[in-house]
Amino acid sequence: MSKLPNAGTTIFSVMSKLAIETGAINLSQGFPNFPVDTVLTDIIKRKADQNIHQYTPMQGSGELLTAVSGLIENSYTRKVNTDSELLVTAGATQGIFTTIMALIETGDEVIVLDPSYDCYEPAVILAGGIPIRIPLDLNFMPDWDLIESKTNSKTKMIITNNPHNPSGRVWSESDFEALETLLFKNDQMLVLSDEVYEFITFDQKHLSANEREKLKNRSIITSSFGKSFHITGWKMGYVVAPEYLMTEIKKVHQFNVFSVNSVAQACLAEYISKTDVSTLGTFYKEKRNLFQQLLSNSKFKLDPCEGTYFQIADYSAVSSELDIDFCKTLTIKYGVASIPVSVFSANSQDNKKIRFCFAKDNDTLINAADKLCKI
Ligand code: GLN
Repeated sequence: MSKLPNAGTTIFSVMSKLAIETGAINLSQGFPNFPVDTVLTDIIKRKADQNIHQYTPMQGSGELLTAVSGLIENSYTRKVNTDSELLVTAGATQGIFTTIMALIETGDEVIVLDPSYDCYEPAVILAGGIPIRIPLDLNFMPDWDLIESKTNSKTKMIITNNPHNPSGRVWSESDFEALETLLFKNDQMLVLSDEVYEFITFDQKHLSANEREKLKNRSIITSSFGKSFHITGWKMGYVVAPEYLMTEIKKVHQFNVFSVNSVAQACLAEYISKTDVSTLGTFYKEKRNLFQQLLSNSKFKLDPCEGTYFQIADYSAVSSELDIDFCKTLTIKYGVASIPVSVFSANSQDNKKIRFCFAKDNDTLINAADKLCKI
């Protein structure tokens, strides 16, 4: 008996383990390998001796809630009510899980756009909901006619992810307009807007549900300090939602974790005012450009990458293996670990594409590209 009969070990654990076992350069699981900002590590050292080691209030420490609401206001001019609209979570993953548990009832349909981040569907299933997996088009953009055709009175939620993992694509104004039209036609429908890469876009500013009048009152927005501050291991994030939804989300949160890591909250509360998230896009754009330029003479064909720290590569000129097999070959034989894209789709559609993470120091990117160019 299994509540998740089709779930195995996540591809991130599988590929990182293989990378360690084989000594391959790990461009699979998305995490930075460069040092954390010393401003942050200095705060940790100083805070360690302070009285910050006991439970915080359930929804988060007052200081962190204030700091996050300031970040949201600076970024999107939205004034969030820190008492009723904000929740500090153990990473975006817990925010997503808790939100789905709180808002999805047995038989509710939830639209998931494939390729999709792997924590969405299991949460929907555990909540008793029905995941409706709809493929993005071949450019990894939403096909709004197709989405509308799968929407009905049972559709309780659509999960969106912009900037998009694994593709690195970014939504345009017309995508938001199409989403708003869809919501207008379906009164019962909510948006779970996964914006963990909100500060990592390259040529255009991120469009957030936080700044859209037609979405704000119908959206639950998740973000991750892991991505924004290069601290994925901290597992810290937050959820923004209107009060009538947040009340339900908090009911679940209090029994799911009650409150999250107090030391991390204290450090982040101070760090937010001492860092500038608006530099993140340029920082990662340089890495994207370097990685793309290093691979320009390889046999890999690179897709457009507008945000996140992931680059999709077509390997059809190199191998006819299935992407899962090719990723293993690439790790074991050529010493570079990546992620197969097919695992993020319900139909396992194999378009001979793999995902590289370029959130790495330049030497790592140079060494990886050197190996990839020899294939
Ligand atoms: N979000 C990261 C990625 O896409 C992985 C996080 C995890 O390992 N669960 O690579």
